[in-house]
Amino acid sequence: MSNPDESQSHSATPIIIGLTIGLVLGLIVNFVGVAGRESPVAWVTTVVAVAQPIGRIFLRLMMMVVVPMVFAALALAVVEIGDVRKLGRMGLRTLLFTGIFSSAAVLIGMGLVNVFQPGKSLPPETQERLLANYSKQATTIEANAEKKKNIGEVLVDMIPENPLQEMVGAVDGSSKGNGMLAVMVFSLIVGLAITMRLDDCKPLIGVLESIQTVTTVIIEFALKLAPIGAGCLVFAITAQLGFEIVRTLAWFAGTVVLGLAIQLFVTYSIVIWTFGGMSPWHFFTNAAEAMLTAFSTSSSNATLPTAMRVAEDDLKLPPAVSRFVLTVGATGNQNGTALYEGVVILFLAQVMRVELTFAQQLQVVLMSILAGIGTAGVPGGSIPLIVVVMKSVGIPAESIGIILGVDRLLDMCRTVVNVTGDLAVATCVAKSESAVPSQP
Ligand code: ASP
Repeated sequence: MSNPDESQSHSATPIIIGLTIGLVLGLIVNFVGVAGRESPVAWVTTVVAVAQPIGRIFLRLMMMVVVPMVFAALALAVVEIGDVRKLGRMGLRTLLFTGIFSSAAVLIGMGLVNVFQPGKSLPPETQERLLANYSKQATTIEANAEKKKNIGEVLVDMIPENPLQEMVGAVDGSSKGNGMLAVMVFSLIVGLAITMRLDDCKPLIGVLESIQTVTTVIIEFALKLAPIGAGCLVFAITAQLGFEIVRTLAWFAGTVVLGLAIQLFVTYSIVIWTFGGMSPWHFFTNAAEAMLTAFSTSSSNATLPTAMRVAEDDLKLPPAVSRFVLTVGATGNQNGTALYEGVVILFLAQVMRVELTFAQQLQVVLMSILAGIGTAGVPGGSIPLIVVVMKSVGIPAESIGIILGVDRLLDMCRTVVNVTGDLAVATCVAKSESAVPSQP
């Protein structure tokens, strides 16, 4: 369960400075030593060879916590909802609205990325250089192309035969089944089993909560290195690819922001109007303080106290409903994150020329929805999960470096959508609860 006191908000300034330095130096190096030449001058290759490993260390710090983080977060999410089932209708309604919002978000994101195809805006020569850059992992792409599965196989492989093997495979790409998706399903089943023997499983719940705390601390530690780590990744990419990659990233960022705006202003307005019985104008003007806090902290957890105050004092929602929905939602209802994950995967697939079959796109939809539930409500919480989904469909993990330069800004935007989504669910659940005559 998310505890607002445990999460710290991070200032975005150091990372923005790190990224800007990486970007500017990268563009200068590209201009001086790469642009217009057959192959880069020798010193460029040396500088990039130094910068790249530093960026990769930063990525690995994030990667190392993925499996325990997802396992603990999803199992605990089910335990929380299971607990709440005792509260009856409210739990189910929260689940229902969360499902509607998350599915709408992922479909909007994936629809837009298919229409705009931002990853295809790279000129062919630049794309060739990019692919050459990741040639070491090209074998994964080829192997992946050979083992395309049909929908039936994807569904069966969601149930792991050997969860430990899937956990290993989720990280190194060697899984027999579905890797991370299978791990997610295993976590859900463990969570369900715990809810059936709640009293006997108290120690296990304690262990899972501790795992979640430890993984959050490690991510916070990795984020402290982010200004240098992400700066080096951006430097390495722009030094090799120059301005073209910046333009492509602008397309990508535009697609994400458009998707988030549609989710925020269209999906939420329709649902708040229809199921929440509140005018969207009233909702957004009163939710503004929580939205601004989410934007500046990039953390649903850190915004939780503000969101609770806004729900009670400004939106006038009953505390019993808003406290429950907002606490579960800070971790479990992250539609902005789900939308982002879908867009990133398809964008990087386009950039890396990985053709995804319909079954694989379906797998991305499912994993993005589940990842929205399993992502910690902290800055950059979704990055490790994105890497895992990438690997499971055969996109080289290091290519996430391409988007890290714009991730911090987009994190601020998607956290606004995450937090507003929690308030929207609380509004709808509060309305449906009030429509039911109270018990004597
Ligand atoms: N920063 C997001 C949140 O706290 C999670 C993420 O998408 O990285 O809601």
